Amino acid sequence: MRTINTSAPVLVTGGNGYIASWLIKMLLEDGHTVHTTVRDPRNMTKVEHLTKMAANAPGTLKIFKADLLTEGAFDEAMQGCELVMHTASPFIVSGFKDANEALVRPAKEGTRNVLEAANRVFAVKRVVLTSSVAAIYGDAKDMQNIPRGYFSEEDWNTSSSTDHQPYSYSKVIAEKEAWTICRAQDRWDMVVINPSMVYGPSLSKSSGSTSISTMVNMGDGTMKLGVPKLTLGVVDVRDVALAHVKAGFTPEASGRHIVSATEISFLEMGRMLEARYGDAYPFPKRELPKFLVWLMAPKSGVSRGFVHKNVGYPVKFDNSVSREKLGLAYRPIEQTITDHFEQLIEDRVV
Ligand code: NAP
Repeated sequence: MRTINTSAPVLVTGGNGYIASWLIKMLLEDGHTVHTTVRDPRNMTKVEHLTKMAANAPGTLKIFKADLLTEGAFDEAMQGCELVMHTASPFIVSGFKDANEALVRPAKEGTRNVLEAANRVFAVKRVVLTSSVAAIYGDAKDMQNIPRGYFSEEDWNTSSSTDHQPYSYSKVIAEKEAWTICRAQDRWDMVVINPSMVYGPSLSKSSGSTSISTMVNMGDGTMKLGVPKLTLGVVDVRDVALAHVKAGFTPEASGRHIVSATEISFLEMGRMLEARYGDAYPFPKRELPKFLVWLMAPKSGVSRGFVHKNVGYPVKFDNSVSREKLGLAYRPIEQTITDHFEQLIEDRVV
């Protein structure tokens, strides 16, 4: 149980990110002083939206430079902060050569680096960690081994590795590392947010998040011949940001929180967009047979192992802890999907 002084600065790592940008907006609108870290504060395409937000909100923003892999890089930004929100971590699922260097090392060593800074900065009372449902399960097939028929905060991903689902592996080992460091001391506590696939309008124009690339692919023709029969948990980026704020300032908040509004397939997402935009964009209209998806997997940037253990398997998540303990009320997913696509149109991305 920790009460956070609302006039102390709040640190958000990776401030230019898709989720972090919404989180910073909410904190600034609530009047907080926000310290944020980015890798390159001089890169205007990455920070311009943040400085504009600060200019139009009652709160104050201070931007610091920090790389996850530079030891001690977060100490300066953390000075005076009672609350630290650690969101920075790569969210890419393809397009890299070395999974360990691209994903696992920044996630695990970066988390250790941020939390060791929290151990050195005496002001820190609480850390909110952006984990993922990827730390709860690895493949959709894993749900067959869960007798209750849905994933909950009790579950841990045991099936991912550097070679199979490396992003999911990066999230589970980073969260485990965080709990180990947290439990070795008692000055600060930790609240973990485990979002499912996040969609909704992006404030950041530079994010390389898979959330944004998959939504772009819905309307740029990549999926016009069809989509794999894949079901995912999905949630609005604005609800994820709010979950972080509530996790930070609710004194009795503790433990893990699945933050997921519902489950839908890629085809259902396509149908939601078609209902709104008709044939104006080449939305997916059918699901492809699994053998074809398996055959085309290497060309599509996913492994055949991923297809084997995910295509055709349902997933389901229990979001009751986030609703009851954080008071979250989830937006309807149609609104999330169409608001996101509308933003891509407005920003001429599709
Ligand atoms: P994003 O827009 O790509 O944000 C990732 C952030 O991490 C960026 O600010 C990026 O900075 C930073 N980062 C990456 N490598 C770094 C390094 N070596 N040093 C410093 N910063 C580094 O992705 P996002 O979707 O907002 O994801 C944010 C967090 O939410 C991640 O922890 C992700 O695992 C988690 N999450 C996301 C989803 C989702 O569906 N989007 C779902 C569950 C959990 P640069 O711009 O400099 O690269």
